[in-house]
Amino acid sequence: MLTILQIPVLTDNYIYLIHDPVSKETAAIDPALAPPVLEVLDKKGWRLTYIFNTHHHWDHVGGNLELKQETGCKIIAARSDSDRIPGIDVGVGDGDVISLGSHTAKIIATPGHTSGHIVYYFANEDALFCGDTLFVMGCGRLFEGTPEQMYQSLQKLQALPPATRVYCTHEYTQANGRFALSIEPDNGQLQQKMIDVQQLRAKNQSTVPSTIAQESATNPFFRTDSLSIQKTLGLEHQSPVQVFTELRKRKDTF
Ligand code: ZN
Ligand code: FE
Repeated sequence: MLTILQIPVLTDNYIYLIHDPVSKETAAIDPALAPPVLEVLDKKGWRLTYIFNTHHHWDHVGGNLELKQETGCKIIAARSDSDRIPGIDVGVGDGDVISLGSHTAKIIATPGHTSGHIVYYFANEDALFCGDTLFVMGCGRLFEGTPEQMYQSLQKLQALPPATRVYCTHEYTQANGRFALSIEPDNGQLQQKMIDVQQLRAKNQSTVPSTIAQESATNPFFRTDSLSIQKTLGLEHQSPVQVFTELRKRKDTF
């Protein structure tokens, strides 16, 4: 099993450190900053082998160069973003497989938030590191993609096994949940999830990871086929992409 550590940084970012106790290899996923990562590495006695980036935004790559300089780690990121990922060593694309010790992750391209966005899926660990594509009860804003693209990207993630743990990069859960409830107030699982989330946040605890199963039950962007959601939007029996487009538009101004 991989050890997965979550490091909260900035206002609402999470950096993940994943460590294979057998090979001793360690990867940092989306290090916004270097110092908090170096501190944990030091405390754990781990050496950084890799950085895995999901996309080029500063709050995901800000620590790249300092970490590389301090540890000699190799940086893996989307090949199509080679010119905007600081320090990139290995470019990867959809369907590629990378490894950490004997563990492997499949790269899935999820354009929408940015054109080059990728996610890392460790099937044997039931772990998905999805950056700013999928959030707990939400999804990323469309900076460089169309609603259609983002919808297709999210479909790929929803198709993963229900037990897959969803490790996203931001603690946006409470705001996402408020929006979700405004759109689908009669969803009992969503109501319960919000109670659980409020309790966690009141104690300043993380609501991440979620699971694909929980997202399928509560995340409006995974629920474009819900008649209740379609009714709220006035889009009964419209196409999933039309429903998705309207949801994303409403969330942007919620
Ligand atoms: Zn981003
Ligand atoms: Fe971000």
